[in-house]
Amino acid sequence: MQNILITGGAGYIGSHICIKLQENGYQPIVFDNLSNGHRDAISNDIPFVEGDIRDAAALNKVFEDFRPAAVIHMAALIEAGASMVEPARFYEVNTAGALNLLEAMRRNACKHIVFSSTAAVYGNRDAGLLSESLEVSAENPYGRSKAMVETMLGDYASIYGFHAIALRYFNAAGADSMGRTGERHDPETHLIPLVLQTAAGQRDHIKIFGTDYDTPDGTCIRDYIHVDDLADAHVKALGHIISSDHAASDIANIGTGEGCSVKEIIELCKEVTGQDFTVVEDSRRPGDPAKLVANPAKAKEMLGWQPKYPSPRQIIEHAWNYYQTNLLKS
Ligand code: UDP
Repeated sequence: MQNILITGGAGYIGSHICIKLQENGYQPIVFDNLSNGHRDAISNDIPFVEGDIRDAAALNKVFEDFRPAAVIHMAALIEAGASMVEPARFYEVNTAGALNLLEAMRRNACKHIVFSSTAAVYGNRDAGLLSESLEVSAENPYGRSKAMVETMLGDYASIYGFHAIALRYFNAAGADSMGRTGERHDPETHLIPLVLQTAAGQRDHIKIFGTDYDTPDGTCIRDYIHVDDLADAHVKALGHIISSDHAASDIANIGTGEGCSVKEIIELCKEVTGQDFTVVEDSRRPGDPAKLVANPAKAKEMLGWQPKYPSPRQIIEHAWNYYQTNLLKS
């Protein structure tokens, strides 16, 4: 069985990837500093190392101890809004941290990597669906901190012979369809969990950040992708890179190709939960592009990947199930 190092593996998306890796015959090794992740989000039969990607010695030791065949690099700061306030942290963790990891890989002759990139690299575009061939033009330091890593991966492929795939996530949402793991950020900043907390009466209201965007209902449009489908994309990307030893650096969008506005998400959450709640129209959140919707054709063609749960309603249903079972007790 091949060991796969997964940085940030105890986080929301990482914990889903661990399940998928095990289901597909890989042995995940989780490296996480638990700044956002949870030790209990991954099962006890998965080796867990508490450590920070900025710590070269800790990374070296993981490579020496486990000799991973490939790395899935997820550890990062993820809030676009926060990156507008403290950009340095994002460059330090997301960009310098990734460089530290790539150097540890190079020292340890591990050349296969799947990287969590983001739709935020596209920024504000007039284009309908976003394709990988568009030039990068992020609106916020978060997107730029990830775009820089994509550039580094290109150099590590052409100069050091790495085989890399950067997956540009659109908006990860939902929970494991069997309820084994789900989203629990603290503090929570993402739209769907915040709306569900409001539906559950744990918040007074939900704020809409901006109602004057150039979109049909004036609110931002995003492409919500089920976390289970996102996890599946990683396993397919991993299979793709470790099945061949040639050097390459590819990029693939992971989204459904369908957009949903903030107002539409709120309405769907009201329907799924059967609850009404207060919605407050607030000003724009700095750094938010009006619309981010994927052209997912490349992931389908290159990885044979296709979403199993493309409907936002199903995404919200799974998130609500997880929320009610695991988070409403407190
Ligand atoms: N959003 C909102 N209210 C909230 C949280 C988010 O209106 O309390 C909006 C946000 O401005 C964006 C969309 O919902 O347009 C998705 O935001 P989220 O933070 O979930 O993900 P992002 O697109 O920033 O990765």
